[in-house]
Amino acid sequence: MAEQLRLMAVHAHPDDESSKGAATMAKYVAEGVDVLVVTCTGGERGSVLNPKMDRPEVWANIGEIRRAEMDAARAILGVEQAWLGFVDSGLPEGDPLPPLPEGCFALQGVEVAAAPLVRLIRQFRPHVITTYDEEGGYPHPDHIMTHKVTVAAFEAAGDPERHPDLGEPWQPLKLYYDIGFSRGKILALHEAILAAGMTSPYEQWLERWEERPDKGPRITTRVECAEYFPVRDDALRAHATQIDPDGFWFQVPMELQQRAWPTEDFQLVRSLVDSPLPESDLFAGVRETAHAR
Ligand SMILES: [Zn+2]
Repeated sequence: MAEQLRLMAVHAHPDDESSKGAATMAKYVAEGVDVLVVTCTGGERGSVLNPKMDRPEVWANIGEIRRAEMDAARAILGVEQAWLGFVDSGLPEGDPLPPLPEGCFALQGVEVAAAPLVRLIRQFRPHVITTYDEEGGYPHPDHIMTHKVTVAAFEAAGDPERHPDLGEPWQPLKLYYDIGFSRGKILALHEAILAAGMTSPYEQWLERWEERPDKGPRITTRVECAEYFPVRDDALRAHATQIDPDGFWFQVPMELQQRAWPTEDFQLVRSLVDSPLPESDLFAGVRETAHAR
């Protein structure tokens, strides 16, 4: 009797699930995997990035609107979703940087902030968890905190001595970081855009690349999911305050994106199963183990 496979994706804000690993989630949902998105904060301090939504009545109800947007994206991706209940830290700007607002997610103790995630892991019992790398994918304090909390909860959830009040221990088998941008991917998209006679927005990014290390060599796992890129884009557009539907990304022909870089990429950082690298499946080694139990 095959055990139901379960995937948990831990994100910082509503909309992150639709921009990082969304097509991978949609693919696993289509295969019958249960997928739970955990959103650490309510995104209350996010900006309104869509000019059409930059209106006083939107700003006045931003928390409520972002919950409704998350509901819509959840339905499009076909996933379940849970809020961890922390308050958005905001992205500090200025020189010197202002202090983080009192009580926000990034100021919590890691152990304390990981506790509700330990509870969720023990309830949902994921075989595989995805989150951000130690730099948060990009350096937002909530993204870095999401990384720390997920790593701590991955370690604690299976330990009967830790948080005995938060449910039966459950040890997830694999932990991955999303590798959203590698030099290879940006270069492939850049060249495909130029070949199509369009202006590439990646020109300056590629010129400045030497300033940051390439995460390409960290990739262990490439999941083919181009078929689900349109689902990803629909989910992104559901976050209407956060996404400008007239922005450049939506002008790049879908067929070009699917051809230039048909995978979403991950780094396997913890594994309790045997799975030779490189892989093409987050559940490599897990299917055999889970089904044998
Ligand atoms: Zn975010």
